[in-house]
Amino acid sequence: RWTSSHAKAFAGLNSVAEADLSHFSRILPDSCILSMLPPTSLGSDDLSTYNTDWMGKYKGRANTVLKPKTTAEVSAIVKWCWEKRIGVVPQGGNTGLVGGSVPLGNELIINLGNMSKVRSFDPTTGILVADAGCVLEALSEYIAPHNYVMPLDLGAKGRQVDCMIGGNVATNAGGLRLLRYGSLHGTVLGLEVVLPDGTILNQLSQLRKDNTGYDLKQLFIGAEGTLGIITGVSILTAATPQASNNVFLALPTFNNVLPLYMTARQQLSEILSAFEFIDRSAYELAVKHGQGKALSDEDTKGAECFVLLETSGGKREHDEEKLNKLLESLLEAEEPLVNTGVLSQSPAQFASLWALREGITEAVSKEGKAYKYDISVPLSSFKDVVDLTREHLRKCGLVRKGAVTHVIGYGHVGDGNLHLNIVADQYSTEIQDALEPFVYELVASYQGSISAEHGIGAMKTHALHYSKDDKSIEWMKRIKNLFDERGIMNPGKIYLVDGQPVKFF
Ligand code: FAD
Repeated sequence: RWTSSHAKAFAGLNSVAEADLSHFSRILPDSCILSMLPPTSLGSDDLSTYNTDWMGKYKGRANTVLKPKTTAEVSAIVKWCWEKRIGVVPQGGNTGLVGGSVPLGNELIINLGNMSKVRSFDPTTGILVADAGCVLEALSEYIAPHNYVMPLDLGAKGRQVDCMIGGNVATNAGGLRLLRYGSLHGTVLGLEVVLPDGTILNQLSQLRKDNTGYDLKQLFIGAEGTLGIITGVSILTAATPQASNNVFLALPTFNNVLPLYMTARQQLSEILSAFEFIDRSAYELAVKHGQGKALSDEDTKGAECFVLLETSGGKREHDEEKLNKLLESLLEAEEPLVNTGVLSQSPAQFASLWALREGITEAVSKEGKAYKYDISVPLSSFKDVVDLTREHLRKCGLVRKGAVTHVIGYGHVGDGNLHLNIVADQYSTEIQDALEPFVYELVASYQGSISAEHGIGAMKTHALHYSKDDKSIEWMKRIKNLFDERGIMNPGKIYLVDGQPVKFF
């Protein structure tokens, strides 16, 4: 039970004490305050879902979680934390994969889940303005009857995994539709942000064109909550494609992935909307854990890897004709690039083929403890990166029962984004030390990025320099300092605290 007055929290900041709690209870109703401090008497178990990340890898010790319903409430809370130097962690759906959404010590968690109203939607322009705590899936459902889709789509939706639009923007989430609609830096039109001193920055523009000086909102996209709390998002949604198809292709060798990508781009041009790579081990894990319906043995025989290709266009006959022509040319070529292809024949099969790809993250977490490296490297090196990592772990004697069980690769080929996952029976310093800096040095040797879409969070603070030079990091820190000179906003994320990486296990 916590009864402390101000205890020093992480990064030299204060933790929430009873006097703070009584101040917060003047801002929020009791139903929006969860605390282990008196007079509320929750135990640590009651806060564990907020203190623990989706993978169960990062665990904080927040004694209080606040769930405001309005921007004014967020502002009043943050203003107090600024004055009292209380560390704050903004939290959305807590589905982040780099430990950014949970405290590293006993910072206050501000969870946006109660801010879940759509503020406006214009069916003519497709511009949606929503509270930051709106669940991505709920927004998709909201705009679907108007024939619009969200410009991003992630595996972290539905089935009790509910990422929120504010979290998506804060992480600059990529996902499955980036190939078609581009990144959030392009589709987010405006943001409302509560700055670390409590100031409300209203940049909630609905304009597509606005060249009036610095585009401040861009700073908060991908800032992982280190510069302020996003409370509202204005975003350009896309017209629902009139026809969508997908096909799951089995390839005899990884060497065919790139020629296949080039052929698909040339032949499908504007209707190609996703091109996802899945190596055989990743596919088998997805099947093992019931994600989607397995292909027949005949269809997967002799396949080293798979590609899930999606088309989205304006006219079914036109799209199907193009896709069929592509499949014919692939299968009838003298040296076919693919062994077989399973073309979805119904909406249920369309969803099931996608589930084989989208379900990999979940399958990995069911299989064991995952070390996740979400990297950008040249497409041609995807297989080498996975193989070299496996070989390295093997040489370290770690590919065995009780240690590493799988080294798998999958990802968004169209975006040059490989998800390298190492699955182990448990998290251990031995595996961690074998993987790092090995993986980061490997990525750097390809001039890649150590984080393609998940962010830096707490996981990669010590590795930032592999993707950013000293000058860039210095300027990033200056920007952080400009907004948050007291360092209260998501401390220990993106940047090291006192030059030391935090040990997690
Ligand atoms: P959280 O996890 O709560 O927070 C993430 C970060 O954003 C933290 O640093 C937090 O402090 C900050 N934050 C959250 N809300 C706010 C706010 N309102 N204001 C300021 N900062 C805030 N990611 C991808 O990019 N592509 C994928 O394809 C993808 N697939 C996934 C599949 C699964 C099964 C899972 C579990 C995760 C996946 N992710 C993916 C990672 C994750 O879902 C995304 O990073 C997502 O955008 C996080 O949203 P969230 O609401 O859960 O944010």
